[in-house]
Amino acid sequence: MKFDHILCHYSEIGLKGKNRRFFEDRLRKNILEAIKIRCVDSSVSVKRYHGRLVIELKQKGADLDCIKEALKDVTGLAYFAPAFESKQDLNILKKDAHALFSDANFESFRITARRGSSNIPLKVRTVNDEVGTHIVDTMNKKVNLTQPDANCYVDMFEDKAFVYPERIPGQGGLPVGVSGKVIAMLSGGIDSPVAAYLAMKRGATVIFVHFHSVPYTTPASIEKVREMITTLNRFQFRSKLYLVELAPIQKQIMTDTAPRYRVLLYRRFMFRIAEQIAGKENAHALVTGESLGQVASQTLENMEAVGRVTDMSILRPLIGFDKQEIIDRAQDIGTYDISIQPDQDCCSLFVPKRPATKARSEQLIKQENSLNVEKLVEAGVESASDEIID
Ligand code: ATP
Ligand code: MG
Repeated sequence: MKFDHILCHYSEIGLKGKNRRFFEDRLRKNILEAIKIRCVDSSVSVKRYHGRLVIELKQKGADLDCIKEALKDVTGLAYFAPAFESKQDLNILKKDAHALFSDANFESFRITARRGSSNIPLKVRTVNDEVGTHIVDTMNKKVNLTQPDANCYVDMFEDKAFVYPERIPGQGGLPVGVSGKVIAMLSGGIDSPVAAYLAMKRGATVIFVHFHSVPYTTPASIEKVREMITTLNRFQFRSKLYLVELAPIQKQIMTDTAPRYRVLLYRRFMFRIAEQIAGKENAHALVTGESLGQVASQTLENMEAVGRVTDMSILRPLIGFDKQEIIDRAQDIGTYDISIQPDQDCCSLFVPKRPATKARSEQLIKQENSLNVEKLVEAGVESASDEIID
C-alpha cells in the first residue's frame, strides 16, 4: 500500500480566529518551501482542513523519504503522518485497516480513531470496536491497547477519513515567520547557534550578526558562521548575515581601558551596533547565547551592566540550560561539529586573567569616558557588510 497523503498536525492551543489563519497560512507556505528546496522532484499540494494541513502527494514519483526528512525540520509541526485516504464508512475503513496491517509484521495491535468534530456520524468508539474486531477475526491478531506491536490510526474530519500507521514527531513550536524578526548575535561558539535555533522554533525570522577581529585573527570565524548558518537554514530556508569589524573598537579598548573590563566593553559595543542593525531591519529583539553563570561575563551583574546600553529586549533562550543540555541541542540541530572546529574567537583574544565578575554599569561608563563611543559605533555600523546565505 502506497501512501497518498501526509497529515500535518500543529499543537498550539491558544491559536484562535485571525491568528490561527495567519499561523496556518505560514505553516503551509513553509511546508511547500521546505519540500520545494529539499525534494526538487516531488510535486505536492497542501490543503487546509479543520485543525490540520494535508499534503497531497500528487504524482507517483514523489520521494516520501525526502519529504519526511524535510518535514522534520519545519517548525510549528507537532507531528506528521504519511497516510492513505479512506472513507467515513465502516466497511471501507475495515478494508483499509486490513491493507495497512498487511504490510506489517506484528502480533498485537490497536486501532486509534479520532474525529475532528462531533457532527461526524461515525463514533470513535464504534470505529475502534468494529475495525478492531475485523482485524482480530480476519488476521488472527490480538488487541493490545498499551503496548501494541502495530497501530492503525483513523483520523476523521470534515467529510474525510485517513488511516496511517505512525506519527513522526516534528520540531514543535511555531512556524518560522509568524513572530517577526530578531537579530541573533552569532559567535563561532556552541551556544549562540542553539539560541538562534530556539528563536526560530518560536516563529522568529532570524537575522545574524557576527563580529570578527580580522586582521588580528584569521577569517576562520567568518567561514564558521557561514557554515553554521547554512546548517540553520534547514529551519528558515535562507538567512541574512551581517559581518561587522570589531578590530578597531578592540584596539581602542585595549589601549584606553582597564583589562578586567575588556570583554564587557566589547559586548556593550556589540549590543549598540546590533541595535542599529535591528533598527534598519525592523527587528524587535536581540538574541544571545548567554546562560546564567556559565562564564565570567554571564553573571547577573555583568549581563545587567552590559545590557544597559540598549532599550531593546535582549532574549537569552539558553538562560536556564546547562552546558551539556546546550551541547545535546547543538548536536541535534547539527551545529556542534562546526562549533568545535578551532578558530580564533574575537573575544578570547587578549583576555585578562581576572575579568570582572560583578561590574556595574557606572564602572563601564567610566571606562568608556576615555573612548569616543559614538564614533566607534558609527564606524562599526559602517563597516558592516551583509550577505544572503541560502
Ligand atoms: P557562544 O558559545 O555562543 O560563543 P559563549 O558561552 O562562548 O557563547 P560568550 O563568548 O561570553 O559566551 O558570548 C556570549 C554571547 O555573546 C554569545 O552567545 C553570542 O550571542 C554573543 N557573542 C559573543 N561573541 C560574539 C561575536 N564575535 N559575534 C557575535 N556575537 C557574539
Ligand atoms: Mg563564545
